[in-house]
Amino acid sequence: MNRNTAEKLSNAAQTKHNKSLVLRSVWKHNAMSRLEISRISGLSTATVSRLVDSLIQDELLVESQPKATPKGRPMKPVRFNGKGHYLIGIDLGTTYIRGVLTNLAIEPIKEIEVVTESGKDPEYVLKKVAQVIMNLANTNLIDPKKIIGVGIAVAGIINLNTGIVEYSPAFNWRNIELREFMNSHVPYPVYFDNVSRAMALGEITFGNGPGFDDLICVNVGYGIGAGIVIGKKLFYGTDGMAGEFGHMPVRGDEQVFCTCGKKNCLTAYASGDAIAQRAKIRLLTHTTSILNEIPAGELNAKHVVEAARQGDPLAKEVFTEAMGYLGRAIAGLLNIFNPQAIILAGGVSLSGNIFWDTLKPVIEENVFDHRSTKYSILPSSHPNQSAIYGALAMVLQEILNLSLTIRKH
Ligand SMILES: [Zn+2]
Repeated sequence: MNRNTAEKLSNAAQTKHNKSLVLRSVWKHNAMSRLEISRISGLSTATVSRLVDSLIQDELLVESQPKATPKGRPMKPVRFNGKGHYLIGIDLGTTYIRGVLTNLAIEPIKEIEVVTESGKDPEYVLKKVAQVIMNLANTNLIDPKKIIGVGIAVAGIINLNTGIVEYSPAFNWRNIELREFMNSHVPYPVYFDNVSRAMALGEITFGNGPGFDDLICVNVGYGIGAGIVIGKKLFYGTDGMAGEFGHMPVRGDEQVFCTCGKKNCLTAYASGDAIAQRAKIRLLTHTTSILNEIPAGELNAKHVVEAARQGDPLAKEVFTEAMGYLGRAIAGLLNIFNPQAIILAGGVSLSGNIFWDTLKPVIEENVFDHRSTKYSILPSSHPNQSAIYGALAMVLQEILNLSLTIRKH
């Protein structure tokens, strides 16, 4: 590469970086004048004006009504164009595939939920995902050509370089070529990531997290996972495996298998599935519990939590034990990463006061030194929809990075 080409490339990269900086400033602060953008971004007013014009051309910014100023010319603020384009977020769960079509202001336009049938072969499930995407897109409410991209949140170890789900014990998948499949079935750019990491991204993009540099989102649902944010960036680890908190070994009675086949994973002690299974095992020898009224095939973690809330001793014991394992493991995360916050998401975290009142004291008791460790334990900002918001955040971040182009016509 000659020097001129290298210089041109680096100039282009610098312009893209500055343009993204301007776009992010406006997205974050709503309406802003060019002067205010210049102050916040540290770029000259001439550069800001040029980049703003270019972003208006790209239909990512729009000009608002001019605001009168005490002296001089009226200021014409610009704002993020939330209305003209669309994105799709998909939560690919083992029970349901949930999808939502929104505009760039993340206002929902259409929602779809179908049963996953995760026991069927991977292609069957992926075809269902593609169908949900196409059904969301085919609506007379919007122009489908104006959909910019799709985000998918899925459980498992994801290799973002190859676009492959390398291993997902929840689905019993190995080496599923998710990117290739979606590229051949869906006419939009598709992004995907591990569901817990997606939830963490959702929190730092739309939720409780934007003020934090370091946070961990712990997803406690049917399984357990974590999304780790260090210095405002998602942490992936060498193989994209970082955050497999549910497979952290803990020592216990080994009565229940983890989805990965091992018996000492945190998931086998504290997940929604483990709570249900552990209650079933205990019910075999205890006949007095109110949980005996529920057929074993139907018993789930929600029943156990509800019975614990009503004071059923067996249910209380099972739930307290599970929260003991979870709380100690979360204290371990605090000791290792020293984040500003742990955000708890997933079905089990939606159990109300009983969840927080049982879990928080265990965390406090087991953290290295709670007097010198300042941390917040917070609920997810979009209960029930953490994964969907995470999937939407994946696409929105690509738009703000200017990695995705807008189709204007
Ligand atoms: Zn495991």
